[in-house]
Amino acid sequence: MLLRACGGVLVAVASLVFAQAPRQPVTLILTGGTVVTMDSSGRVLSPGAVAVDGRDIVAIDTPAVIAARFSGRDTIDTSGQVVMPGLINTHTHAPMVLYRGLADDLALMDWLQKYIFPAEAKTVNPEFVRAGTRLAALEMIESGTTTYADMYYFEEEIAAVAREAGLRGVLGETIIKFPAPDARSPAESLARAEAFIGTFRGDPLITPAVAPHSAYTLEKDTLLACRDLAVKYAVPMLVHVAETEDEVKIIREASALTPVGYLESIGFWAPRTVAAHGIWVTDADIAILKARHVGVSHNPESNMKLASGVAPVPKYLAAGVALGLGTDGAASNNDLDMFEAMRQAAFLHKLESRDPRAVPAPAALDLATMGGARVLGLEAQIGSLEPSKRADVIVVGTNRARQTPLYDPVSQLVYATHGDDVKTTIVNGRMLMKDRRVLSLDEPRVLDEARQFSAKVRDAVRP
Ligand SMILES: [Zn+2]
Repeated sequence: MLLRACGGVLVAVASLVFAQAPRQPVTLILTGGTVVTMDSSGRVLSPGAVAVDGRDIVAIDTPAVIAARFSGRDTIDTSGQVVMPGLINTHTHAPMVLYRGLADDLALMDWLQKYIFPAEAKTVNPEFVRAGTRLAALEMIESGTTTYADMYYFEEEIAAVAREAGLRGVLGETIIKFPAPDARSPAESLARAEAFIGTFRGDPLITPAVAPHSAYTLEKDTLLACRDLAVKYAVPMLVHVAETEDEVKIIREASALTPVGYLESIGFWAPRTVAAHGIWVTDADIAILKARHVGVSHNPESNMKLASGVAPVPKYLAAGVALGLGTDGAASNNDLDMFEAMRQAAFLHKLESRDPRAVPAPAALDLATMGGARVLGLEAQIGSLEPSKRADVIVVGTNRARQTPLYDPVSQLVYATHGDDVKTTIVNGRMLMKDRRVLSLDEPRVLDEARQFSAKVRDAVRP
C-alpha cells in the first residue's frame, strides 16, 4: 500500500540513486503487468516488473525501479496481464496423452483390464513414448506448466523430450512386478532405473527419480530395493499410495494394515518420497506421512473421473503435510491443464466439507506453485518468483470476457482462468512459448505424429 501511495516519490528517489550508475545488463525484463509472486508474504505488485538474467530471476520490483537498475536484451510489455510462477504438476504419466478419450465412463477394473493394459502391452515402445511426451509437453507449455513429475516406461525417452521441449521434470522409471513394456522383471526395471539416474544426475532440468508403482503391485523386497536406490543416489521416489478402496482391501488382507501403515511397517519411505493420491488414509496415516516428510500429490480430476474417492485435503493442510496438485495421466482426466486442477481442487473440497471456506483461492494457487515445489523437494529453486530462483515464469492474459471485471487477480486465476489464457511460458530463462506461439516444439508435426499413433492404439484395443 505504502509503495503504491508513494510511487511517485519512489520513482524520483530511484532515479536519483541510479542516475549515475550504469544499468546492469540482463537477458529479459517483463514489465507493466500484475506480478503475483507466491512468495512467503504473498506479495502482489500491480504494476510490477521482473528482471531475468540467464536461468535466474535477479529482481522483482516496480517497473520504474527495474528500468532504473537494469537494461534488458529483451523486454516484454506485460500490461493487462499477470506474471506468475510456472505451474507444477506433481503427478502424471506424460505419454498416456495418446490414450486420451480412448475409453471413458468405465469401472476402474474394466478401464484398466480391457483398454489401458492391452493398449500399453501392444503400443508402448520408445517411438510411442517420444511422440506421446512431445504431445504432452506441447499441452503443458501451452497451459503454463513448467515442471512435471512423471512415472512411466522408457523414462529416458521422456527425459530426452523434456530437455528438447525445455521443460523441467522430476522423472522416474516405473518399477512394477508384472512384465513391463521396457523390462521383463522388476530386477531389470531396477537396473534401468539405476542407469537412468546415472545418465541424468546433475542435469539442469531433469531430476531423476525412482518410481515404484505401488505397494499392491510390488513385493516387499522390490519396494525396499527402490528405497535403497533413492537413498544411494539422494533422488526422489515417486509412488501411488492409497488411491482406491480395492488397494486398501488387498493390502489389509495381506498385512492387516492400511497402505500407509504397511509402507511404514516395512521402512519404505526415502527422504524425498512423493505419494500420489493419498485418498484412503486415516488420521494416523496422515501423522506418519507428516513425520516421514512424505509429500502428497492431490489429483482431484482423476479421482473424480475414476470415482476413486476424495483425498482429505483440509486435513493434510491442517497437519502441515507438503501438498501439491497433479493431473494424473490424460486417460483419466482428460487433459493436463493445471488451471482446471486448481479450480476443481477448490470446488471438490468445498462440496465435500459443505464449507465454501475450504481450500480458498490463495490455497489452491499455492498447491499448484509453492506446494508442488515443496512436494518435489525443489522449493529452493522454483515455485515462486524470488531473486536467485530459476526463471520459471508464465504470463497469463486476463482480458477475456470470462475474466472481466478483475477485482482480485488470485481469485481470477483460480476461478475464471483456463490454460489457454497463458500467453508466454519461460523455463530456466528460456522462452518456450511467446504470444501463444510455441518456440521449442514444431506444433503441427507433434500433432500429426500423435494422430498417426492413434490409429495403432485403436487397433490394439479392437475386440
Ligand atoms: Zn498415476
